[in-house]
Amino acid sequence: MSKQILILPGDGIGPEIVTEAVKVLAALRDRFGFDVEMDEALVGGAAIDATGGPLPDATLDLAKEADAILLGAVGGPKWEQLDISIRPEKGLLGLRSALNLFANLRPAILYPQLADASSLKAEIVAGLDIMIVRELTGGIYFGQPRGIRELEGGEKQGFNTLVYQESEVDRIARVAFDIARKRDSRVCSVDKANVLECTELWREVVTRVGEEYADVDLSHMYVDNAAMQLVKWPKQFDVMVTTNMFGDILSDCAAMLTGSIGMLPSASLDEQGKGMYEPIHGSAPDIAGQGVANPLATILSVAMMLRYSLNEPEMADRVEAAVDKVLDQGLRTPDIFAEGMTEVNCETMGDAVVAALD
Ligand code: NAD
Repeated sequence: MSKQILILPGDGIGPEIVTEAVKVLAALRDRFGFDVEMDEALVGGAAIDATGGPLPDATLDLAKEADAILLGAVGGPKWEQLDISIRPEKGLLGLRSALNLFANLRPAILYPQLADASSLKAEIVAGLDIMIVRELTGGIYFGQPRGIRELEGGEKQGFNTLVYQESEVDRIARVAFDIARKRDSRVCSVDKANVLECTELWREVVTRVGEEYADVDLSHMYVDNAAMQLVKWPKQFDVMVTTNMFGDILSDCAAMLTGSIGMLPSASLDEQGKGMYEPIHGSAPDIAGQGVANPLATILSVAMMLRYSLNEPEMADRVEAAVDKVLDQGLRTPDIFAEGMTEVNCETMGDAVVAALD
């Protein structure tokens, strides 16, 4: 049966980069027999302009039916004055919660060809390949009670609740262990178990799940040390699994080790492995419409989709190898350009990847 992919271009550079990723999917279909059907829908600012809301029912229905979703990016200055409840970003959050996408996978990969793009020394980061697995639908970002209240005497107090139940930790730990099995079989669970009871339980549950994965090497690290180690010697990590907030911070830190925001894909998965795939960057309004955005993060998101939701590891390998090849050819969009390389625009980069698929 053909796989159904919902394409959500979104705003800013979203439509430009998604066009190139769709070309790659179409080439896999036309030249390599990948049985796929693609549908397109509105989300974010584009949906607000057309329908008044960032996540139309029609989009949500299509998203529920699809096997996987490819998103460009949402947001931009045009919609920043709107009430927070109907801003473009609400479309994204709405999709994540409606589809129960609890596992966020953020690889931080530094292609050796781009080692100079990092702010760290090339020998520290060249060949970096970390997968951060972040819990996405629980923890302090969702815990109740939360708010700002007035104390006796008039002083205000802000409060949030860090809460995880065993089943939430169990399922994210399994995602991490399963991924580690396809990589270097090492998981580092990051917590603050010395201070926070909630993450003491996190450590206990991850350890328990780890006993079922005797072939995977499990270690634990406090989050402050993990932040330090990421900058000191990041290549020590294979898979890191952590809470929503720690993952939010550590994954941005890891992304920046690679120095090239236009290169990094991400996935958000539900319990059945269905997922939404998107580059980690935003809609880049400063360069939107100029045709100079780097489409590689979005194309690499397609590779993740093939691997994690569509069970097409060979197609995924093919896409990743094509990206590697265009970098070897010296093709660079402006964001990753360096002396001696060939500067290309978004469309040329996409065409080059398509040509390199063979
Ligand atoms: P951004 O990631 O859009 O841009 C940061 C910088 O990186 C900009 O200079 C931009 O030109 C550059 N950049 C980003 N992607 C690039 C690419 N593919 N190729 C070349 N350069 C690229 O972050 P921002 O400026 O903070 O946010 C802009 C808008 O995007 C905001 O409205 C924000 O809310 C939204 N946003 C959306 C998402 C999402 O859709 N998942 C994520 C982050 C930000």
